[in-house]
Amino acid sequence: MKVARFEFSLFGINTYVVYDPVSKECAIVDPGMSSQQERDAIVRFIERNDLKVTHLINTHLHVDHAAGDHFIISRYGVKPEAHREDGILGERMRQQAIMFGLDDCFDGVEISHYLDEGDEIKIGEGTLKVIHVPGHSPGSIVLYDQKDGFMIAGDVLFQGSIGRTDLPGGSHKDLVEGIKNKLMPLPDSTVVLPGHGPETTIGEEKRSNPFLR
Ligand SMILES: [Zn+2]
Ligand SMILES: [Zn+2]
Repeated sequence: MKVARFEFSLFGINTYVVYDPVSKECAIVDPGMSSQQERDAIVRFIERNDLKVTHLINTHLHVDHAAGDHFIISRYGVKPEAHREDGILGERMRQQAIMFGLDDCFDGVEISHYLDEGDEIKIGEGTLKVIHVPGHSPGSIVLYDQKDGFMIAGDVLFQGSIGRTDLPGGSHKDLVEGIKNKLMPLPDSTVVLPGHGPETTIGEEKRSNPFLR
């Protein structure tokens, strides 16, 4: 599968469109657009590549990663898929927005389809496997494409860093253990596409990430 990255203004969130170039099916992961201009950027990309949106996936339900959920739902008729453990965060979008000093104009997001460890999401001929790595939020998931060697990591793993664990439901111990036990065993060449900042690889993080020593 192929991946397109969009960096949007709300905390520099990376929104990804994962698509199968043959069937043209695609998933929108973590729609973080919060302005008309940012919504247009996604729509133009979908139209230019003649894609059919079949999935809306949230790696977790922090407000920056779900700010565009309602737009994607109404525009493409898909429903949010996420881990059950983040359901409460979805309900509390407005409170989260206030906590982060944003306008309180974010409606709650209700998860329509629960994703869990080991689930496989089909996008045309491609597959994203769900890996549950709690600690940044209780329901944080990583989406792994084994065939094409990449993962969308949400706020679990970044270049040279890991997700913050001081937010409600966070656990530093769970996060570090989850990364070490579930992500580090994957091939070194696996490309990590994080929720913020530049991409990296499992090999690079194994060698140099100070949080995983
Ligand atoms: Zn987050
Ligand atoms: Zn984030």
